Amino acid sequence: MTSRELQARFDAALMPNYGTPPIALTHGEGRRVWDADGRRYLDLLAGIAVSSLGHGHPALVKAVADQAASLAHTSNLYVHERAVRLAERLIGLVRAGAAGGTGDVRVFFANSGSEANEAALKLVKRAAGAGRRTIVSTDGGFHGRTSGALALTGKPAIRDPFGPFGLDVRFVAHGDAAALRDAVDDSCAAVFVEPVQGEAGILPADPGYLAEVREICDATGAAFVLDEIQSGVGRTGHWFAHQADGVLPDVLTLAKGLGGGLPIGACVGLGRYATAFAKGDHGSTFGGNPVACAAALAVLDTIEADGLLAAAAELGDLLASEITAAGHPLVTEVRGAGLWRGIQLSAPAAATVQTRAAEHGFLVNAVTADVVRVAPPLTITREEILEFTGALPRILDRAAGEETPA
Ligand SMILES: *Cc1c(COP(=O)(O)O)cnc(C)c1O
Repeated sequence: MTSRELQARFDAALMPNYGTPPIALTHGEGRRVWDADGRRYLDLLAGIAVSSLGHGHPALVKAVADQAASLAHTSNLYVHERAVRLAERLIGLVRAGAAGGTGDVRVFFANSGSEANEAALKLVKRAAGAGRRTIVSTDGGFHGRTSGALALTGKPAIRDPFGPFGLDVRFVAHGDAAALRDAVDDSCAAVFVEPVQGEAGILPADPGYLAEVREICDATGAAFVLDEIQSGVGRTGHWFAHQADGVLPDVLTLAKGLGGGLPIGACVGLGRYATAFAKGDHGSTFGGNPVACAAALAVLDTIEADGLLAAAAELGDLLASEITAAGHPLVTEVRGAGLWRGIQLSAPAAATVQTRAAEHGFLVNAVTADVVRVAPPLTITREEILEFTGALPRILDRAAGEETPA
């Protein structure tokens, strides 16, 4: 079965919402993946910051296989140890990064990022009571495609065709503390922010912004919900991006990198948000599935045992400095932290760069028209980074020669 044949079958059988993906992948090993025509790629995207340990990592394979063989599913009607251990591990990691103590911390498991944010949305409404229903969110932010998460998403083009959502949302500019201060009052249940806007093109806020969000939420009684679905679990060189700022949210949402490729999301509540749900308030048949929890435990264990936080920080800096040092005229900036970088282009040529990079054997992503996203497995090596940065000037030259595609 060639890529062309698979794409034709995809087009006939799958809904058109994704368009036709340009590459059909068959298998992977480490940081390499192969397409249906036998071409090999260095994977610098990790399935959108998901495959933290790369492909076929022995710890993940063993954890998943052993758990699938022993007990693949329980539903939430029964306790199993994997979910308890994973929740305890996440609580420990949140606490370890908090200088001043956290109070109570508890976890709800979902199956995706959107569902983790849906849980957060219900949690903050439950904690706030009926008088506080407004949510403040950010322009350009992304929180998911389900109706609640989409209502909070600051991208009118993907949101507005599906409204109204029955949710009162105020949008403010990302990183603008003064605008946030004006928008948040005692009618607000919560503020939803990303520490760095991922889908908007790896856009950080100024240092100190999260501390201001914390202060505004404390002053008004709104919950501070931090969406770390893309930034969390080692991606930035910290367990969670907020730990670099020394700021604690009230609610933390996680997903992408947590399961290393298995679907799992988590909504972590701190302080009074740890226990704001009463029995019966929320649920998920698959959430906290034993196989997904086993995968996530393998991811956390491997990040810790192999020192992958320090590696992400160091290799991410190498990646950024090599690209910057090449001084290519198409590149105006390399943003982000750890192994999560946005290459800002001087022209809307990101889609062309993505295509040319694939032709040279590298998977990267045009996250916006003029930003290329690089988010490789946390297991990537120095040699593999240099293989990419060595090839990049030629890729950019080719893309620059043909700038804006139709
Ligand atoms: C990907 C993402 C989501 C949505 O996660 P899904 O698993 O696709 O539902 C939400 N928030 C952020 C910041 C994300 O990057």
